[in-house]
Amino acid sequence: RRAEFAAQRDKPAETKDGARVELMVNAGLADDADQLESSGAEGIGLFRTEFQFLVAATLPGRESQYKLYKQVLQLAGDKPVVFRTLDIGGDKALPYLDEKDEAENPAMGWRALRLSLDRQALMKAQARALLEAAAGRHLKVMFPMVSEPWEYEEARALFEDQVAWLRKRKRFLPTVIEYGAMLEVPALAEMLDQLLPRCDFISIGTNDLTQFLFAADRGDPRLADRYDWLSPAILRFLKRVIDACNAHETPLRICGEMGGRTLEAMALVGMGLRRFSITPAAVGPIKAMIRSLDASEIESRMTELLADPPRDMRRVLKEWAQAHE
Ligand code: PEP
Ligand code: MG
Repeated sequence: RRAEFAAQRDKPAETKDGARVELMVNAGLADDADQLESSGAEGIGLFRTEFQFLVAATLPGRESQYKLYKQVLQLAGDKPVVFRTLDIGGDKALPYLDEKDEAENPAMGWRALRLSLDRQALMKAQARALLEAAAGRHLKVMFPMVSEPWEYEEARALFEDQVAWLRKRKRFLPTVIEYGAMLEVPALAEMLDQLLPRCDFISIGTNDLTQFLFAADRGDPRLADRYDWLSPAILRFLKRVIDACNAHETPLRICGEMGGRTLEAMALVGMGLRRFSITPAAVGPIKAMIRSLDASEIESRMTELLADPPRDMRRVLKEWAQAHE
């Protein structure tokens, strides 16, 4: 199978009936960015900037952030990189940042964008590092754990303030800046009519989203098999988000682990999703699945299944996949 995946590395991820799917990878350190070429992916769809902070003993300054982002952009060459601003707190606590009063349920606590909007100096430094590292090229930034549209707007305004500061000093800026929101807090899905006109893209973080939808801790092994990513509630929820983004022509990507699993990815293509950011090892298997798939067939099957969902969606989809191999 490995040889088979290697052989199709340079072929596009396209279904038999010509639906083009974009496959990018998730990364967090410069080493991961290095894998971009060998995986045959089209870019980095999620660069987790907090990894640099997690491996450091002290808070990384603007200069060391700048160096990392520059290196990642250089490794990516012409391929796009989507930088996610700091997602610290929750399961990614920093020992050197004062979080002694962490709540009992840190995943729902003072983390990610909430922390960044309260400690603006952190995000200002990161904004400057990103804007300077991407000078002369395209910059894509996204904000984690957006719960309400105003949080996204505030974060974007903070970046735009830094852009104005640099412009006033006649510094070299990115040619284009795109801003996106991660959809991983269910409440945001209710506000898409307000959010979509204001942002350039959306990225669904299903790792967090599904734990919040099912009130099931993503880190608790006792719950791992209990709530299936292919459960009708999750799929119906995602379908509404996909439809809203497609109707508004806002690019929508999935960057949670769900997108790197074959059956899940098949179901997502069947619900109209066309952009994936997945773990590098999943690119081969997912591309092989897509190239053997008929998008219109899985689309009509998913429509039937979502209208009247079987209890064991996974089994039904597995059988469908086997019958259509
Ligand atoms: C997610 O929540 O799905 C996601 C991609 O972000 P992280 O796993 O880094 O929280
Ligand atoms: Mg997340």
